[in-house]
Amino acid sequence: MTDTTTTTPAPETRVFEADVARLLHLMVHAVYSDRDVFVRELIANAADACEKLRYDSLADASLASDAAPSITVTLDAAARRLTVSDNGIGMTEADLIEALGTIARSGTRAFMDKLAAARDGESPQLIGQFGVGFYSAFMVADSVEVTTRRAGTDLAHRWTSDGLGTYQIEQVPTDEAPPHGTRVVLQLKDDATSYTERHTIERIIRAQSGHVPVPISVREAPDGETHELTDGSALWTRPKSAITAEQYTDFYRSVAGQFDSPALTLHYRAEGKHEYTVLLFVPETRPFDLFDPDRAGRIKLYVRRVFITDEADVLPRYLRFVRGLVDSADLPLNMSREMIQTSPLLAAINKGVTNRVLGELDKLATSDADKYAAFWEAFGAVLKEGIYEDFGRRETLLGLARFRTTSGGDAWRSLKDYVADLRENQTAIYYATGTDRDRLASSPQIEGFRARGIEVLLLTDPVDSFWAASGVDFDGKPLKSVTQGQADLGLIAPLDGATPDSAAAPEADTFVAFVKTALGDAVSDVRVSERLTTSAACLVASDQGIDRQLERLLAANGQTPRGAKPVLELNAHHDLVTRLAALGDDDALKTDGAHLLLDEARIADGELPADTRAFAERLGRVMAKALG
Ligand code: ADP
Ligand code: MG
Repeated sequence: MTDTTTTTPAPETRVFEADVARLLHLMVHAVYSDRDVFVRELIANAADACEKLRYDSLADASLASDAAPSITVTLDAAARRLTVSDNGIGMTEADLIEALGTIARSGTRAFMDKLAAARDGESPQLIGQFGVGFYSAFMVADSVEVTTRRAGTDLAHRWTSDGLGTYQIEQVPTDEAPPHGTRVVLQLKDDATSYTERHTIERIIRAQSGHVPVPISVREAPDGETHELTDGSALWTRPKSAITAEQYTDFYRSVAGQFDSPALTLHYRAEGKHEYTVLLFVPETRPFDLFDPDRAGRIKLYVRRVFITDEADVLPRYLRFVRGLVDSADLPLNMSREMIQTSPLLAAINKGVTNRVLGELDKLATSDADKYAAFWEAFGAVLKEGIYEDFGRRETLLGLARFRTTSGGDAWRSLKDYVADLRENQTAIYYATGTDRDRLASSPQIEGFRARGIEVLLLTDPVDSFWAASGVDFDGKPLKSVTQGQADLGLIAPLDGATPDSAAAPEADTFVAFVKTALGDAVSDVRVSERLTTSAACLVASDQGIDRQLERLLAANGQTPRGAKPVLELNAHHDLVTRLAALGDDDALKTDGAHLLLDEARIADGELPADTRAFAERLGRVMAKALG
């Protein structure tokens, strides 16, 4: 292989994928106070690479290296250079193109979307909260050079870029690269020279990467001495009593890549049939990509301190906001990732850890309601996915759920609170789904519930339409949508003491029949309402049909044709309805009235009249009549 130098192909220039270029533009022009994050990102990548090599060499002994995994940060104040090198897995040419020319990870995509939607001046903050991986190097560097050799290969490559749209890749002689691993060299910008000061860089590494499970050393100058800064020991193997709150927080930040503090820390050792150590965190704030369908949970699975994968299902999807790791003593080290996924041991870990996480949340709910409310605000919408995904834990999850309701104001109410305050003869838990809490709270469909002092859950997360309609009950009380089927409120007394006067005048029945004919197949039925008190009309789903909000959501996703026609309910005691009913044979006006009532009900639901032109004409005719 002595002739690799003579056959080395010329450097090849390539263009960044459009989104990378956009991201880089932002990095290059970042006016951002906390640029230190780039250190954490480069060290995290170096540590990942070391852990990957450790794992791959379990299966392929030829990859095993004599050198212990290590990361070295080298400072060169004279040349204004900072180098991060690792003896990890390294990259092939194809790896380089894929990893450093495109946006591969879903989180960065989510970040880009957020960025596109952000207003001017918000973006710097977003970078800080998010951490954008390798490309963050361009916040502090005019140019970046990555020299790398994949373990087990005979070729080395160098990637260089100034972050301005293109990058170059060339093959280099293997003696210019680490024997295996990667060296990232940053040519620092004028205003970033402080990153070559030893005390600065050591402070940053300690704060951000102090618990990375690979030792980190700092070399003061290219020919200077190397000091080990962190020993790469695994925090989670130490006893709880030997770990401070700051150490937990630092560890959380390095493992989660977030900047907040953990709202909840779980550190314990499971013993008995299976032995494993758990160190998990519930973050304080919501990451951007929480609802990204590609976002998997990212719990790291270790086997006796060797990192195996962060793609195994250690926790169910609805706990994907939980960060941290599980270190198993029992899983065989040489199991493939695919086999791990289907292993009964993993299933046992999943079960044990899930129960523990939910148990801790329940404890928090009891011990610190405010903290729990903050947790719920950040992650409740995700946890609720479990209500229909995890049948076995449905009751537990319903117990953890909190709701805004018509009687709770801004307070969060539990179903237990709700059931404790049931009205006499009330047998169901009522809910309304929509996108806007205020509009829901004032929607005509819940007037009759309000008048009877019946609490209604106001559900505004998209996931609510799904779980609430999945046949849930709590404490023997079924959940029932206020916009579906008959309201059945007859047995519950109104608060003002008046006995419900459900017997409508005979003219009302005649008018209902008239409206039904006039509206034809725009609605599936017209009937006198029990749920209206002040509005004249509202729309509800038929007994068999699906809830109207769910129908809207499905339609928006192109899933179900909007076939099921709603039912129009009329308030037989409303002045407008009684006077229209008493009109005698002015059929033209009654027809206009029927259509306008339907359109009014649609508007109250946040929809448009079905035929806006016809609506305008009708309104015009009626107004002209009123004006004489
Ligand atoms: P992430 O680490 O979340 O995947 P990054 O932008 O930090 O995103 O890195 C992109 C990819 O570049 C990594 O997934 C990895 O494949 C590759 N990479 C970066 N640094 C290294 C390194 N030191 N050794 C090996 N691969 C690396
Ligand atoms: Mg990274």
